[in-house]
Parts: sequence; structure tokens; C-alpha cells
Amino acid sequence: MTTSRGHVIVVGAGIAGLSTAWALTRRGFRVSVFEQGAIPNPRASSYDEHRITRHAYGTLEGYAYLMPRAFALYETMFRDIGARHFLPGSVVYFLRDAVDWYEPVSRTMTALGKSFFDIPLAEIPDRFPMVETQDLTRVVETTEGGMLFPIRILTDLTVWLGNNGVTFHSDARVSDIDPEAGTLVANGETHRADRIVIAAGAWVNKLTPLVEETVVASRQAVFYLSPPAEYVEAWKTVPVMIDLGTESGTYSLPPKNGTRLKIGDHVFTRAGDADGDRIATEADLARLNRAARLAYKDFGRYQVIEKKICFYTTTRDDSEEFQVKPWAGKAWVVSACSGHGFKLGPLIGDSVAAAIGGERSDAETMRLTAGRMTPEEAAALG
Ligand SMILES: Cc1cc2nc3c(=O)[nH]c(=O)nc-3n(C[C@H](O)[C@H](O)[C@H](O)COP(=O)(O)OP(=O)(O)OC[C@H]3O[C@@H](n4cnc5c(N)ncnc54)[C@H](O)[C@@H]3O)c2cc1C
Repeated sequence: MTTSRGHVIVVGAGIAGLSTAWALTRRGFRVSVFEQGAIPNPRASSYDEHRITRHAYGTLEGYAYLMPRAFALYETMFRDIGARHFLPGSVVYFLRDAVDWYEPVSRTMTALGKSFFDIPLAEIPDRFPMVETQDLTRVVETTEGGMLFPIRILTDLTVWLGNNGVTFHSDARVSDIDPEAGTLVANGETHRADRIVIAAGAWVNKLTPLVEETVVASRQAVFYLSPPAEYVEAWKTVPVMIDLGTESGTYSLPPKNGTRLKIGDHVFTRAGDADGDRIATEADLARLNRAARLAYKDFGRYQVIEKKICFYTTTRDDSEEFQVKPWAGKAWVVSACSGHGFKLGPLIGDSVAAAIGGERSDAETMRLTAGRMTPEEAAALG
């Protein structure tokens, strides 16, 4: 790889920042990564045992059409780092009341040629003995999804980047960015580059006013659990499960490949400060606790191993569109909004690198990353 294409500083070593560094390095840019903590940083949104990946995207249809490209880019990344930190499998959805989900999923999965089918309700107690069957109206299994293993991905990606010439600045909190000059200040020193990419996760509004009106940090709680004895074997066999009930809405990642059972929800708090503590209080967990008791039998008997707080950004409105925008002459701001940014990390990083490399216009890059491409345009991405 050459280093003749210019110098890019990436601020933030989560999946968005490291993927951008990866995609830029592959294109022959010289890259420096500035991270306020360790690389990778346990306080980053990206740092966790598992993340869901899937083609079924509910009403966010534009993102469903990007998923084939997102999966393909992960495979490229796995080849580079020499490890496939992915467990392919189904994602099963439990519907309990009227939600606008089946119709858009049916449309997008059909268009993508991905299989999805109903599981007869009579089969649920046998295959999913831990699931509360009361109020279930429909259960849908979608294939070709699975679990990504983020801590391992971030770690191996960091090693690959270091081996491929990237300069790391850990414990280097960036305090000031001049997007016209291409300079920033970290630990009292000024650094200069041809371009600066701000991939600061839930801290983004502390570094730039560009997306302040659109995105907000959101404090989210999750449970890590040890199930009661009678459900242990079943949890080993079930795939990723998502309950779409209005009151029971939860997502569950089973304990597989060296991970723990995790249950969370997708109700945004749109509150909190990413510099704050990371231990969930009873108040943080109140809604999730209620929902999990409706979604799972005997939830009160699960042992809590960890009550964790994680921060991501989400949009102030309900669009959940990623905010990926050029800022003045020399900077890009990258904000992967809501809880769906990990599966799209390499796609976002590759898109920003393509824009910096002049392969795609700024406007097209913003449209792509906001999930606004037509199915035909998304298919043409490869
Ligand atoms: C509980 C939970 C469950 C989720 N589940 C899923 C899922 O199943 N599937 C999915 O696809 N996505 C999921 N997500 C969302 C996904 O994890 C995020 O969208 C994604 O990780 C965001 O990555 P990022 O790189 O933008 O931010 P981060 O990972 O937060 O990285 C930002 C980095 O920037 C650094 N930084 C910030 N400010 C500065 C500064 N001033 N100077 C230097 N460094 C700085 C931070 O320390 C951090 O390391 C989930 C998120 C959470 C919290």
C-alpha cells in the first residue's frame, strides 16, 4: 500500500472510526487515530460482547437494501484481520400487537431474495420454552443474520491498522477542531492533516455544532444474565430473538461463542452525558425490567450478572438516519444514530473513505449513509 494520497486524522476508535481508518488505509492514505481512552475503549458504544446483524429492518427500508453491501464489507474486513468474528444464524421476531413491521420486512426481504417464514405458534413452547406465549400473534424467522463479536473485531482491527502503518494516539482527548484549517488540539498539542474525520460517537456534540440540532446522546441500559436451570439448554440453542410488542419490546442475544446472555430494549432515553457513569440504576432498568417480564417466563428468577449503561447517539426525531456530513473544507462528521450502527460500521467507514478519495460525491455519500438510496442504487454498490 502506498501513502501518497494525503494524511487523514480520525477522531474516535469505535467501529465507525476504526472502519474509516481501515478503508482509508486500504486506499493508500496515511492515517492517524486519536482516541480519548484506550484503543479500543471500553466506554465506546462499540465495545461489547455481541451485536445483532440482519437484513430485516422494519420500516427503515433503505437500510435493509444496504445490508448485502454491509455483510460483504465485513467479510472483506474479516479476511484482512484474519478472523471471522461472526456467528451466522437466524433472527426470530415475536409479534404481540399491531406494529408496522411485517409488510415492509416482507417487501424488502423478498426484493433481497432473503428467506423469512412464520413459525407456527403451536411450536413455540418446544423450541422457545423461555418465551412468554401469552398475547403472541405471530412469530417470524428470518435467515442470514446472526451475531457479530465487537470486542474481538475492534481488537483485531486495531492490530491490523498498527501493522499497516496507522499512527495511534491513545489517551488523547481532542478538545478543539478547526475544520477549515484541518487542525485539532489534543493534550495541549496542535496536529494538522489534509482531512479530519470526527467519529466521536455519543460525544459528537462536544466536538462540533454540525449535527447538534439532529442528534442527541442516549443513555441505554442492558442486562447480562444467567438463566434459571430449566432454561439453560434452550438458551444454548435459540438464535437472536427480538420481541416487537409495544410493552414487551426487547432484544436478546443468547450466550454463544464465549459471550453472556444479554437482554436490552430499543426505547431511546435521549438523555444523559456520555462522560457519565456506566452502571445502570433501578430507574435506568425500570422499563426493561417490565418488558422482559412480559417477554420471558420466570424473568424474575434470572440472575443478574451485570447492569450496564451504554451510550449512543440517536436522532431527535424518529428517523434514526445516520448523520454523515462534510464540515467546512476539511472535516467529516460521522454519527451512527440509534442502536443499529455496528452492523453498518464498515459500510459507513468505506463510504467516508470513498468520499475523501473522490470516488463518490459528498451528496451521494450523505444519501447512502442516511439509508436513502433506492433498491437499485443500493444493489449497484455490490
Ligand atoms: C446496548 C447497545 C446495543 C446495541 N446493539 C446493536 C446491535 O445489535 N446491532 C448494531 O448494529 N448496533 C447496535 N448498537 C449500536 C452500535 O453499537 C453503535 O451504533 C456503534 O457502535 C457506534 O459506533 P461509533 O464508532 O459511532 O461510536 P463509539 O463506539 O462510541 O466510538 C466513539 C469513540 O470516540 C471516542 N471519542 C469521543 N470523543 C473523543 C474526543 N474528544 N477525543 C478523542 N476520542 C474521542 C470515544 O472514546 C469512543 O471510543 C448497540 C448499541 C448499544 C449501546
